Amino acid sequence: MVGVTADPRRALPSVEALVADSAVRALAELAAPRYIATVARLVVASARAVLANDPDAAPPTHAVLVDQIVASAHQRWQPSLRPLYNGTGVLIHTNLGRAPLAPQALAAMTAVAVGYSTLEYDVAEGRRGSRHAHLGSLLRDLTGAADGVVVNNNAAALVVVLAALARGREVILSRGQSVEIGGGFRIPDIMRQSGVRLIEVGTTNRTRIADYAAAITPRTAALLRVHTSNFVQQGFVEQTPLAEMVTLARQHNLPVIDDLGSGCLLDVTPYGLAREPLVQDSVQAGASLICFSGDKLLGGPQAGLIVGDQSSIKTVRSHSLVRAMRVDKMTLAGLHATLSYYLRGDAVQHLPIWRMIAASPESLAVRALAWANALASRLATATTTPGGLLLRIGVQPGHSPIGGGALPGQMLPTSLLTLSFWRGGRPIGRWAGEAAALLRHARPGLVVRVEDAALFCDPRAVLPEDDAAVLAILLDRMGGGQIALKAVELV
Ligand SMILES: *Cc1c(COP(=O)(O)O)cnc(C)c1O
Repeated sequence: MVGVTADPRRALPSVEALVADSAVRALAELAAPRYIATVARLVVASARAVLANDPDAAPPTHAVLVDQIVASAHQRWQPSLRPLYNGTGVLIHTNLGRAPLAPQALAAMTAVAVGYSTLEYDVAEGRRGSRHAHLGSLLRDLTGAADGVVVNNNAAALVVVLAALARGREVILSRGQSVEIGGGFRIPDIMRQSGVRLIEVGTTNRTRIADYAAAITPRTAALLRVHTSNFVQQGFVEQTPLAEMVTLARQHNLPVIDDLGSGCLLDVTPYGLAREPLVQDSVQAGASLICFSGDKLLGGPQAGLIVGDQSSIKTVRSHSLVRAMRVDKMTLAGLHATLSYYLRGDAVQHLPIWRMIAASPESLAVRALAWANALASRLATATTTPGGLLLRIGVQPGHSPIGGGALPGQMLPTSLLTLSFWRGGRPIGRWAGEAAALLRHARPGLVVRVEDAALFCDPRAVLPEDDAAVLAILLDRMGGGQIALKAVELV
């Protein structure tokens, strides 16, 4: 060690010299000097360790160390959670944050977030109120249920419903509905954690009302239906209709719990999709408690909504888990504003998720073509590299999946912008992958699909007001010189 520092040729720039560099000083917008000095010391220490291990290595220059400090600071302190554009066409993409919020939802959330609010304050009485009171009327009027309560997400909703109604007893579920929703959410595990004994009835593909009837015992606490929201069964299949389950349950004075998942309040069939069960239908059919997500087809912030009859909701509301899973003021404000769009009847015009579902194939074709034309004409000037790649830009028909545990297997027709990179008369798949990586690293990023040696960007999950921003990312990344282009061809 002594030898390393003693050799002047192997001297490293001092931490003091590095933090005085203008590029390092510019990090002041991210962090205070002492945090920056810590990173500088770490960078110098790791350079010293490299030199100690390799006597022949050349010491890194001042400029190299400055770059390392800046990169390390960005990596540590810039938010890794940041906005991006979704060119995958998957509308409810859990990895990409599910439903985008509507303008009024956002405004309502900001309004209660920046100051104090009536969160648990009864204005009429001038004293403590309940946070559970804020959505009651809207949930009643929109779903027909007697009352409702909201927790952090639908997984939490199911846990609290089971714990409140069935802890220490049995819940009957069709074997075909003992599913995994994703992200580690498995119905049998949830049952166990809620202190409930799962009684599976029927077979994977068929469960009849007689199967439920035969399983009811004095230990039974409820019948549960789970919407198989992320897969489809075809062929010799039969699931018992909810109304039949309710009739049977009522004969035994038992509740039916319905885990709906997507929280659909509007008929999707006008958009060419198969029927998704509506919350109103489950209320109509007589389910005692119905739970669904706030950020799937409902189009609001992350939440788990529970609606049902007065006494079941009262039981849930007074359970201690509701306290542990309670939602904050921003979620309540965002949900109220989101539900208000349904109340006014203009959800399809204003809620992003419904605008995307309702976008016509013609409008999507026009937008994809506009991207393609703009890219082809503007990139033509960037194609200066002899021996570079040929970029082929086109538009082709495709399909957008709904995703996110709603309408499994259902696709909406769309038009896709396609980019492929050619050399010697063949598309080079590696470059489609490289191009996709360049796009997702942009700030903000753009996530696209890569298939069959081509890159696909679907306008369906992009709101038209964001078209220009998406085009700007495409232009910047495809024409920025990271990919050497020889020519551009519109096909
Ligand atoms: C998505 C889904 C859940 C989980 O909801 P989260 O809001 O993600 O917690 C539970 N059940 C069903 C049927 C679902 O589709």
